[in-house]
This record gives sequence, C-alpha cells and structure tokens, in this order.
Amino acid sequence: MIGKRQIFIRFSGCNIDCKYCDTEDSKLGGIGKYYSYGELNDIVQSLMTPDVHSLEITGGEPLLHSEYIREFLSTYPYTAMLETNATLPDNLSSLTDVIDIVSMDIKLPEHFNSEDEWNDVYKNELKSIRVMEEANIKYYIKIVVSQTTSIKIIEDILNDLRGIVSSSVEVVIQPVSPMSLWQSKENLFVLSEIVGKYFKVSVIPQIHKYMEIE
Ligand code: SF4
Repeated sequence: MIGKRQIFIRFSGCNIDCKYCDTEDSKLGGIGKYYSYGELNDIVQSLMTPDVHSLEITGGEPLLHSEYIREFLSTYPYTAMLETNATLPDNLSSLTDVIDIVSMDIKLPEHFNSEDEWNDVYKNELKSIRVMEEANIKYYIKIVVSQTTSIKIIEDILNDLRGIVSSSVEVVIQPVSPMSLWQSKENLFVLSEIVGKYFKVSVIPQIHKYMEIE
C-alpha cells in the first residue's frame, strides 16, 4: 500500500519455496511468538497512530493461519490488507468477509526449481482469483519480474487472466530487488506495455527497501 502507513502482522511459515524469497526466516517457520487475540490487539493499539491506514497481514504465508486471522479480525474488526501467495484458495475463501483488500502474487516458472512446482502454484492462484471475483473483494495482482523474464510467459498468463479478472483490477509489476541487478530496464517497459493492453498497470519496486525501512 504505497505511501500509506500500516501496522505489519507477520506470520511464520510458508507452503511454497520461491527462489527470490526475501523473508527466509518467516518462510521457514518456527520463529516468532504466539499471541492471544487480546495480546495482539494490545500490541496493535500500542502502535496505532492517527495516520495508520490499515493492518498488513503478511508472512511467510498468512493463509496458513487463516483460522487465527479470522478469529482476530472478527473480534477486532480493523481495516486489513492480506498479502498472500494465493495458493490456498479454500483458506482465502474463509476470510473474504473480514479482509478489506488482498495483494496476491502471480508467480512465474523462473521463480521455482521445476515447471511442475510452478504449475501447482499457478493453478491455485487462478482458483484464488475466482474466489475473490465471486466474493467481490478488492484485490490487486503482483508479478515479480527480472530483466530476463520471458515475454511469452507473461502473455500466456495474461490470456488466462483476461477470462476471469475484472478489467478494474490493477496489475503491479515489481522488479526483483536489488535494482543494482538491473543493467537494463528495457524489459520493464516492454512488460508494462503488454499488461497495459488489458489491465491497469503499475511498475513499483519494493518501496520499503528504497526508504530503508525494515
Ligand atoms: S510465497 Fe513469499 S514467503 Fe513464501 S517462499 Fe515465496 S516469497 Fe517467500
């Protein structure tokens, strides 16, 4: 949520294994601490300032903890944004009435060690999109790209998305960090133009890294 202040609630553990993961500690799980709903609310309240826009529910993969999230937000109905890899559509479905906005990933084959691994992830992402379209929930799609990301794979994905994603949904192209890896930015412009044919598109790097905010 660019430019908006948020309170982050980071859950531990992830169900997939992206090569570019920048939250390795959270991905592996087994770290952090369990908080009761009341304890978590006390922490949120202690961090609350007048400019806070929403809670950001992130991970790891927060949908592994969907029952906890559902219970917490049912008891304390904050404005909440879920950041998810969108590979657990049933868990997502159980949260559509307590979450206000979803930032979901579409992963690419280059993010995994095998095509089969990616295929499973991608099928579930498409299912999650159907869940959100049916629930009429606000969401946007993020795709992490590199300077060698294949144009063809992006075109194939867009063809799939065109059938199920509302044209009002924004697609965010996120260049993989750090930007020093990018000798040429040409691919970003090409990818932006391709996505822009069908959807609203933004190219947005990881802003917190630029601002040096942990
Ligand atoms: S989905 Fe997120 S937390 Fe999980 S491996 Fe990928 S980048 Fe890391």
